[in-house]
Amino acid sequence: MVFLTVAGNAANVQADPPDAAAGQLQVTVDIPGGAAVVQSIDQEKRVIRIEPPRPEGRGWVVWWYFKVSGIRPGETITIDVGNPPWSTPERAAFSLDNRVWTQTAPGRQIEKRMVYQQRVEGAEAWFAWGPPFSPEDAKQLVDEASQKFPAAVTFELCRTLEGRPTPALLIHQPGVPDDERYGVWIQARQHAWESGASWVCRGMVEWLISDDPRAESLRKTAKIYVVPVMDIDNVAVGAGGKEQKPHDHNRDWSDKPHFPAVAAAMEHIRREDTAGRFDLFIDLHNPAPSTKNPFFFLAPADLISAPRRANIDRFLNVCRLEISGPPKFEGQTYESGQRYDPNWPRISKNWVTSHTREHVVAVTLETPWNTPHATPEGYQAIGRQLAMATERYFRESPRTP
Ligand SMILES: [Zn+2]
Repeated sequence: MVFLTVAGNAANVQADPPDAAAGQLQVTVDIPGGAAVVQSIDQEKRVIRIEPPRPEGRGWVVWWYFKVSGIRPGETITIDVGNPPWSTPERAAFSLDNRVWTQTAPGRQIEKRMVYQQRVEGAEAWFAWGPPFSPEDAKQLVDEASQKFPAAVTFELCRTLEGRPTPALLIHQPGVPDDERYGVWIQARQHAWESGASWVCRGMVEWLISDDPRAESLRKTAKIYVVPVMDIDNVAVGAGGKEQKPHDHNRDWSDKPHFPAVAAAMEHIRREDTAGRFDLFIDLHNPAPSTKNPFFFLAPADLISAPRRANIDRFLNVCRLEISGPPKFEGQTYESGQRYDPNWPRISKNWVTSHTREHVVAVTLETPWNTPHATPEGYQAIGRQLAMATERYFRESPRTP
């Protein structure tokens, strides 16, 4: 399913629109994760006006992503986007092949719109809120990791409510005995619009399976689960996901989870923790438009015992050492408790904090999206640095005070 509204003239969803050859701009959203309401296309001035779709019950209105064809190679086209500030990054994501993503120049804010101009050296181009990362990309990431590296095993975390597979990866190289291994759970995209979180996750995976001796040392001492996209259904259809009906994935960590991905994640974490093999939980997100540096959300202070506090402090310290960005982690943390959200006990890292042994660290990393670094390379650098922080953290056992 794709969300599509055709307004005015020739917007349609055909793969090869007949008018495109004649230099008529055409917008296509029939791509995985595609989303845009086309408000108008001015063929004279070469201006495409869009806003994000508002699919009923599927969460925040932020994400947009579409293909443009009918471009006269070398011409500058204008993309004019509504719904500021969440839908209007300073720079939009731009690609000539739907694979390599860069950014446009900074847009100009004109009243309640953001206007991006881009010279395009090709007949087609793709534009998006941020670099897309689809369920197919998640599958490709875990498959490539397992092909490249035999100690990485792909598995299907679950089938979603709409029947889609949820790709996952377990990294675990022969080394120390199983019951001495550190258990790590890494997940991204409980909120579908936050595509940068999946790129951070990708950066972690690529470092974890790399030849870096530090990565090898971590693989031999830990068992690392990775889920690049938790809310597959909303990512697949280009919906926002956050605050969807009846609630989103990150308000679902309860005795009766609604989403199969959450139920499966809880089961794995519970099992490893019961066996005394769980140590670190990292949930990856993108924050508000004004955020310029990465920060962590932590569980409410009154939920955190002294041993847990000591480990959290140590984890934050290694993150300060390793996450140099850009943008750099400068030690900023916030609590997500009662004042943040009355449903705080059902936030994933809060659930993990209250349902695991006292040494376990559970955090949410928020990586900013409204910066020049919110590219695949920039996000992956943060992921790599976070993985290096994880390796540094486990140089000391978190299980012994
Ligand atoms: Zn989020």
